[in-house]
Amino acid sequence: MSELAFSPDVNFDKLASQEAAYNTKIESSYFPRLTESCTRVNGPVEAQFKFYIDMQGLRTIEGSVKVEATFICQRCQKEFTRVVESDFLSTCDEQKAKSLKIDEKLDIVELNEDGTFNLLGFLEDCLLLEIPYITSHDVDDPECSEHTNEWSCGEIEQDESDNPFAVLAKLKEKK
Ligand SMILES: [Zn+2]
Repeated sequence: MSELAFSPDVNFDKLASQEAAYNTKIESSYFPRLTESCTRVNGPVEAQFKFYIDMQGLRTIEGSVKVEATFICQRCQKEFTRVVESDFLSTCDEQKAKSLKIDEKLDIVELNEDGTFNLLGFLEDCLLLEIPYITSHDVDDPECSEHTNEWSCGEIEQDESDNPFAVLAKLKEKK
C-alpha cells in the first residue's frame, strides 16, 4: 500500500491557516466502506482539495474526489461501470456558520472529540453519498436488458438468465 499524502486524521485548524492544498491519488484499499459498496473499485481514488479560511472566517475544505467503480445493476443483474464523483465545500465551524445564518447553505463537518478531522473518512463519505441505494444502468442504456423489448434484439443474450432448456428450444425453433 503506497503512503497517503496526508494522515487519516488531520489538524483542520492548522491546514486551514496554512492553506494546504492536495492533489493526490489514494489506493482504494484505504476505503474499505467504498470497496464494500460496489463490486470492485477500478483504480485509485483521485482527490484534489484545499483548506482555507473563507472571507467570513470559516475554516473550510473545498475540493472534489473521484473514482471509477463497477456495480451490479439491480434491474438486469449485469455489471456496469460508473465514475463516482463528488464536489464538496464544507466547514467545521458550525456555530459560526449558524450565527452568520449560512449553516443551511454549507455542509458542516464534525471534528473528532480530540479536535482532529477525519479527512480520510470524510473523502470516503463524500463518495458513498454519491452511490445510489439501488444501483442500476441509466434508464436509456441499451445494455440494460429489462428495458428492451423482449423480442426486438439479442434473443440469446436476453435469455441468459432463463431456463437453459427454454433457450435451446427457442434456438431450435429458429432453424
Ligand atoms: Zn441494467
